[in-house]
Amino acid sequence: MHNDVSNGRPNPYEMAVAQFEEAADRLNLDEDLRGILRMSKRELTVHFPVHMDNGRTRMFTGFRVQHNINRGPAKGGIRYDAAVTLDEVRALAMWMTWKCAVVDIPFGGAKGGVIVDPKQLSEQELEHLTRRYTTEISVLIGPASDIPAPDVNTNAQTMAWMMDTYSMHAGFSVPAVVTGKPLSIGGSEGRNEATATGAVAVMKMAADELKMPLRDLRVAIQGFGNAGAIAAEILHAEGLRVVAVSDRSGGVYDERGLDVPALLKYKQEHGIVTGFPGAQEISLQDTLEVPCDVLIPAATEGVLTKENAPRVQARIIVEAANGPTTPDADKIFFARGVRLVPDILANAAGVTVSYFEWVQDLQNFFWEPGEVQEKLALVMDNAYTAVARLAHDQECDLRTAANMVAIKRVADATQLRGIYP
Ligand code: NAD
Repeated sequence: MHNDVSNGRPNPYEMAVAQFEEAADRLNLDEDLRGILRMSKRELTVHFPVHMDNGRTRMFTGFRVQHNINRGPAKGGIRYDAAVTLDEVRALAMWMTWKCAVVDIPFGGAKGGVIVDPKQLSEQELEHLTRRYTTEISVLIGPASDIPAPDVNTNAQTMAWMMDTYSMHAGFSVPAVVTGKPLSIGGSEGRNEATATGAVAVMKMAADELKMPLRDLRVAIQGFGNAGAIAAEILHAEGLRVVAVSDRSGGVYDERGLDVPALLKYKQEHGIVTGFPGAQEISLQDTLEVPCDVLIPAATEGVLTKENAPRVQARIIVEAANGPTTPDADKIFFARGVRLVPDILANAAGVTVSYFEWVQDLQNFFWEPGEVQEKLALVMDNAYTAVARLAHDQECDLRTAANMVAIKRVADATQLRGIYP
């Protein structure tokens, strides 16, 4: 496996293809069908200028990739990151296809990204960048064709700008063009905390299978943003011990359990978790290897590798992040009996509630929080049960089983529709 030249991490597209082949082998998919499913359908690269606060104009590069749209409109987040590459976006788009299929929502997969460190930009520059990027990818996006959502370093405000920009071109409001919007402009109840809620739900199902009592679980979390911080908040509120968390600045550890509400307040004030009073400072690497029962990677790709996998102490890994584990590390975890709930299942609640948001926008009829939670719980429960059952029957890990469930659904749709013309 090659490292991604831009950031030194394993190449995520090669990881995604390796995972695909493993499941495709077990499904006995023929080579022609594999050829279709392995490749992106559309890959758009855009270079565009943005007015900066100092009066200069700066060029930026962005991507929007649609992997497969045989089961419905393309769906996937937009990421702002200085290290985004086309291969990363390709991989993430493919994972979105499988993710939508594993929870059986009628979407295909897409992903977008802009090469930018948003922390270096003012609010106004970010708005300009977002509006221009939206315009550049408007040849692809739309409520019936391709529906973006937030991802790393983008949020409800980013989605509000995207929705407004698209609506300005249309001449009327089109809320269903993006999900993850603020509630006041067509967002859904439960969307902000959806990914974390789903990750906690599958963690409980995995703990139940391993007969590990919930109240005893010690949890370590890498990443303290939408997915990681909200997961920490939920777990702490439910009485579990969150013993370690990290963000880009480093990690903090307390074997008695961190005071999560105080840490959230500290992060809000200081922008980082390191320096949190009373906790021991640990390195980014140590956060993955501390004594704990559950590890939740909730930051970025390729962080669990063959080098550190033997040292991970958790018995359950819940991939809130996309692609945190390399195929080599997967094999080590499986051999060691670590129950790893893969990204396409563990973080699928985000896109599931995005689907609910899109449905509500199209119908102009909005649901109560309880209705969202109830429908989400049912989706996650059904998906986990189907995947766990297949993993048991096939004597394979949950990733391979989840990919098998998903790839079979996309392959069936592809075959039923046939090849045009
Ligand atoms: P975010 O921008 O809100 O938070 C990311 C966090 O990770 C930040 O705290 C950042 O400091 C930290 N981080 C980045 N690199 C790190 C590193 N090397 N070590 C430790 N921490 C690091 O992003 P998010 O929305 O929480 O997304 C996190 C992951 O979850 C991504 O892989 C994303 O694709 C995935 N995900 C998010 C959602 C969602 O609804 N937000 C849904 C599905 C999957």
